[in-house]
Amino acid sequence: MIKEFDVIIIGAGVGGLTAGIYTGRADLSTLIIEKAGIGGQILKTDIIENYPAFPEGLSGFELVEKIRAQTERFGASFINGEVIGLKNKSDSSRFEVSLNDNGAYCAKTVIIATGASPKTLDVRGELELTGKGVSYCATCDGPLFRGKEVIVVGGGDSAVGEAIYLSRFAKKVVLVHRRDQLRAAQILQKRFFEIRNAEVRLNSILTEILGSDRVTGVKIKDVKNSGEKDMQASGVFIYVGVSPDTGFVKNFVDLNSGGFIKTDEKMETSRKGIFACGDVRENILKQVVVACAEGAISASSCVNYIESLEC
Ligand code: NAP
Repeated sequence: MIKEFDVIIIGAGVGGLTAGIYTGRADLSTLIIEKAGIGGQILKTDIIENYPAFPEGLSGFELVEKIRAQTERFGASFINGEVIGLKNKSDSSRFEVSLNDNGAYCAKTVIIATGASPKTLDVRGELELTGKGVSYCATCDGPLFRGKEVIVVGGGDSAVGEAIYLSRFAKKVVLVHRRDQLRAAQILQKRFFEIRNAEVRLNSILTEILGSDRVTGVKIKDVKNSGEKDMQASGVFIYVGVSPDTGFVKNFVDLNSGGFIKTDEKMETSRKGIFACGDVRENILKQVVVACAEGAISASSCVNYIESLEC
């Protein structure tokens, strides 16, 4: 028999966990389904300095542990599993969530909080050398590159922030960015340019990652004169943006051209009773504090939605 809940939250990043605090406190039976590990993308962040109430900053791991404990305190249940389908039950007042292990769960309302995953560069050598010097997580792999030369690709907050982190271990960090200016926040750029063992190559794209068993270097192309050069490196950290994890709902709720879920201000998607929050949603600022706030709004909207079903 399929187990029934008031609310199913898909994804246990900070948005989903916060939604679970609110639905739990509202006495709604809540199931949170997570495919990887509780915490999501934020676990890959070494230090968060802009989440209120922590003036010294804290690591992604510490923040997740605090939010998880709070979510558990209000009674949410957690299971591991990858959601592969979401549909209306035949009576249409319930939704059925199906998992890749053939399990299925049912709820009056669903919050999609699956977040986003790092984009790949799609250059020669990237796939083959992932885990062998190519990484998408400086917090996880940075210490392995102590005393070595590493390349960071990208010009946003993630690339610059993680390049700063890597400079603690690496002998040299080279940030490679395709345009003539970085897009990261000024405070991060200022810190980066003060680092003695870090430098930037602007107007440059990485065209190939070299090495057979491990990364030994990269090919960099100057976009202005098309000149190509090899550069030695033991590690390549790729931070070229994120893609939303929405494959399983692409024919169920409306997405924008980038695949992010469209919602109204109540976080309700194009399908009544289905809500979304955090990085998976079409929003203007991808930050922890925003994901938490959207988690709270989506949960509060679920409470109102369930009350409306009972009228
Ligand atoms: P992002 O802001 O989308 O930046 C992606 C970067 O990668 C851009 O500089 C982009 O270049 C470059 N890029 C994209 N595709 C590329 C390609 N094929 N080849 C080479 N370069 C490519 O992504 P993000 O840095 O991962 O950040 C995602 C979101 O999280 C953002 O909203 C960011 O503000 C937020 N975030 C916040 C913090 C913080 O507040 N501490 C930390 C991390 C992330 P162009 O500049 O030319 O487009």
